Amino acid sequence: MGIIKCIGILTSGGDAPGMNAAIRAVTRAAIYNGLRVKGIYRGYKGLVTNEIVEFKSQNVSNIIQLGGTILKTARCKEFTTPEGRKLAYENMKAQEIDALVVIGGDGSLTGARIFAQEFDVPCIGLPGTIDNDLFGTDTTIGYDTALNTILDAVDKIRDTATSHERLFFVEVMGRDAGFLALNGAIAAGAEAAIIPEFSTEVDQLEEFIKNGFRKSKNSSIVLVAESELTGGAMHYAERVKNEYPGYDVRVTILGHLQRGGSPTAHDRILASRLGCAAVDAIMEDQRNVMIGVENNEIVYVPFSKAIKNDKPINRDLVNVLRELSI
Ligand code: ADP
Repeated sequence: MGIIKCIGILTSGGDAPGMNAAIRAVTRAAIYNGLRVKGIYRGYKGLVTNEIVEFKSQNVSNIIQLGGTILKTARCKEFTTPEGRKLAYENMKAQEIDALVVIGGDGSLTGARIFAQEFDVPCIGLPGTIDNDLFGTDTTIGYDTALNTILDAVDKIRDTATSHERLFFVEVMGRDAGFLALNGAIAAGAEAAIIPEFSTEVDQLEEFIKNGFRKSKNSSIVLVAESELTGGAMHYAERVKNEYPGYDVRVTILGHLQRGGSPTAHDRILASRLGCAAVDAIMEDQRNVMIGVENNEIVYVPFSKAIKNDKPINRDLVNVLRELSI
């Protein structure tokens, strides 16, 4: 591939607050460095159907504070086929796009990796997902905002849980990762978290009830990560009804409200740093890496590592939650 003159940018998969801040950062950093930018609509779908528009600095004005993504996002089945990706490549060439910045989660970066292997196209990934499940970055764009949304909701649930002396199971997102549930539980002062990372190790419900759960309290909140591995909040509520009938149990599923809202300062700063770093990486001739932040430093993480789906949960946090919920 020759000199890079034009960058294409897209958001793909599940949306996350802060994606707009990332779009803004990539666009402005590219223009600042003398490159052209094209916005690709609806993720890989727009690449396949040629929904591509030239972006100027003004196209990204007044968006840093907005949740969602101005480029829209979609899931694109066609891109998972060689024919679909060939079409995407042909459109890219016709649009004179020399490199791609893909903002998305595990699936989107997997798509970028495969695309980059098939065609000689530098692809840079930015971790955009509320789940925080990408290896090689301390946090992902959207995670902090979602965590704060959970906190806000659980604080409100606590008022009613306490008044009625109830046990609440609050289901949060996470897709096979317990970061939102565990850190949400610590931040909200909840009694326990049920997370997929431990679902094959122990019976988490039995464990916290046996450990004297709720000894000195009349209300309790347990955060449950939505996952096939945990079975979700309804599953645990049913179990308590059957196995520990003394509890007055309720379930709240937070659902998609966790995806929305104005991004926190943390997510805006993260997205801005990552966006600038993506343009730097392209100009340094880096390719096929995700940009992350580890220990406050920008790092380049090969796609193969980032998407391996084994970002470990910090076990110290489990102890913190346990110690503080007595
Ligand atoms: P996320 O990026 O949030 O994990 P998805 O898993 O839905 O979201 O992936 C988003 C899109 O990425 C998919 O709709 C598809 O177009 C593309 N993609 C995901 N996995 C692959 C794959 N194995 N090969 C090619 N494209 C993929």
